[in-house]
Amino acid sequence: MHQHHRALGLAASPFGTAVSGAAEIAKLKPVQPVTLLRPHAARRAARFFVEKFPGRSLYAVKANPSPDLLRVLWDGGVTHYDVASIGEVRLVNETLPHATLCFMHPVKAEEAIAEAYFEHGVRTFSLDTLDELEKIVEATATDGVAATDLNLLVRLRVSSEHSKLSLASKFGVSPDELKPLLLAARQAADALGICFHVGSQAMTPAAYAEAMARVRDAIVEAAVTVDIVDVGGGFPSSYPGMEPPELETYFAVIHESFEKLPISYSAELWCEPGRALCAEYASVLVRVERRRGEELYINDGAYGALFDAAHIAWRYPVALVREPESNVRPMGFSFYGPTCDDLDHMVGPFELPADVQAGDYIEIGMLGAYGCAMRTGFNGFGTEARVIVEDEPMASLYGAVAERRSNVVKL
Ligand SMILES: *Cc1c(COP(=O)(O)O)cnc(C)c1O
Repeated sequence: MHQHHRALGLAASPFGTAVSGAAEIAKLKPVQPVTLLRPHAARRAARFFVEKFPGRSLYAVKANPSPDLLRVLWDGGVTHYDVASIGEVRLVNETLPHATLCFMHPVKAEEAIAEAYFEHGVRTFSLDTLDELEKIVEATATDGVAATDLNLLVRLRVSSEHSKLSLASKFGVSPDELKPLLLAARQAADALGICFHVGSQAMTPAAYAEAMARVRDAIVEAAVTVDIVDVGGGFPSSYPGMEPPELETYFAVIHESFEKLPISYSAELWCEPGRALCAEYASVLVRVERRRGEELYINDGAYGALFDAAHIAWRYPVALVREPESNVRPMGFSFYGPTCDDLDHMVGPFELPADVQAGDYIEIGMLGAYGCAMRTGFNGFGTEARVIVEDEPMASLYGAVAERRSNVVKL
């Protein structure tokens, strides 16, 4: 018991003592789930985008707003941040006072726009209607005089057919408003941009090529000068059953279609990766509290870091953390989370040695994006325990896995 409390004490100071990996933590028999943080992996992802993406990379903060992570990405060279709420604006401004913030939610409160512009220096806003344009122009005016330093990005509607998570129905300018909106935004803006989002976890670079064809159509139709093309997020990470092509292939396709657009040489190319910058940043060490056949009752779930596993059957890499290692053949398990709710069920299947039993610890990987960020305290289950580990993430497009591929990425 004494040892266990020391473990959680260590865990509470995230950038204190680092340990080598999950096995070291499991030995301390933590009662609550423990978040394992890999700042080295997030830093590597940041360096990768900064060095290889043929333009500017904005980090989409919603994927994981942890201040520790924001500082790691900043140190890795990410200077621009895609924020979607006034809460994110305040958080990033407080954590990284020199960062450039871009308010990329197309539907904003007027008060949020005004605070972002006047108090936090935000100059870049996205929009997809004439109503939103009017809102932005009014909220940023001083004594009735319109701002002259706005970067306005019109959000196009593009297909999500190549992505695991659609973002196609909620936002995007309607076809009949496209031309009038681009023309009006051109008038109001210092720099005019076009942006889109192909959906999260886009499994083929063709998603971007097709969206860029929509950008070309829009520029031709409205006959406006465009200064910024923002290809959004959607860059995939590696999960069981979802092994995407190399990210460099995506970058090459985007670069090629950008070069072919009818825009000036000085036009800028932007992207807004969320998942790809932070998926490898965190995993969670959970304990099996009960086994019922092929079902494992674990101490984290849908209201913890496993929202996507429960709600859209996302599969994460898993590993049994036991010494000595089990050499029993693997089989597929589903998980029940700790709350009393039937919804707290992750179908998987998650491949683990067939002899898993109560008391075992399991590491669930790739929870840095849309995992740890969505944790709640519902039903009294939650965790503050966090530890930095130095080993490689369980699936990687940048590290251990990438090294085994023909196209070795040296960072
Ligand atoms: C969610 C979101 C992103 C990040 O998407 P990923 O799939 O995590 O890369 C980027 N831009 C916008 C506007 C978003 O809503």
